[in-house]
Amino acid sequence: MINLKTKHEIELMATAGRLLNSVITEMRAACAPGVTTGDLDRLADQLIRKGGARPGFLGYQDFPRSTCISVNDEVVHGIPGKRAIRDGDIVSLDLGLVLDGFWADMGCTVPVGRVGPEALRLIRVTEESFWAGIEHAVTGGRLGDISAAIQAHVEGAGYSVVRQFVGHGIGRNMHEDPQVPNFGAGGTGPELRPGMTLAIEPMVNQGSYDVYIKPDGWTVMTADGRLSAYYEHTVAITADGPLVLTLGASEASRLKATG
Ligand code: MG
Repeated sequence: MINLKTKHEIELMATAGRLLNSVITEMRAACAPGVTTGDLDRLADQLIRKGGARPGFLGYQDFPRSTCISVNDEVVHGIPGKRAIRDGDIVSLDLGLVLDGFWADMGCTVPVGRVGPEALRLIRVTEESFWAGIEHAVTGGRLGDISAAIQAHVEGAGYSVVRQFVGHGIGRNMHEDPQVPNFGAGGTGPELRPGMTLAIEPMVNQGSYDVYIKPDGWTVMTADGRLSAYYEHTVAITADGPLVLTLGASEASRLKATG
């Protein structure tokens, strides 16, 4: 069942989203050679709590940390720890928080130091695919329109979208209906209605979309050892079009001014 949110609930989610954006902005700035993924996780945990929120990932299905940090050929769900980031790595940050009972979920891939043009292109195409998708996050459309637009953008650039993991509805729970695949056919799936809130999160592999899970039970790896990038925002469908709830305060007000 898809839970439609009221305007007030969407405002609460946007407040959570702004806090989350500020946390990720600080994490991004802290991504540097020599910094460990555990350092980044502790930074995020502190900032989330300082903002009055709860780190949602901590303890979720027994996940042991407050963030997922996935490096290079790790796709998603990497467990932060002693791994030190190296010059030239690409680092995917993914985290969620709960504020006033509502979730926000967001992530991105950060290039650290001297990253090659191939990896930078992968990151850029992944971000673009999100924006291509949410052009279709409009009332009266179908969920499959979003999925198809993401897939077309990714595959048009010569990459593949991960099949085994998908985006999701979000609200009082991190995972609500519907599932939001990054692949599929336009004109299919649930009708998009005002009040739907979705975490849209393309996971894009440089090579094949095949993945496997490491023996730690969490970390998702590309099967071919090539790079993967990731990009996620929490989005509300409204009568006036899509509203990205995990933008920063300045970005959000800019959208309001133009919209
Ligand atoms: Mg998510």
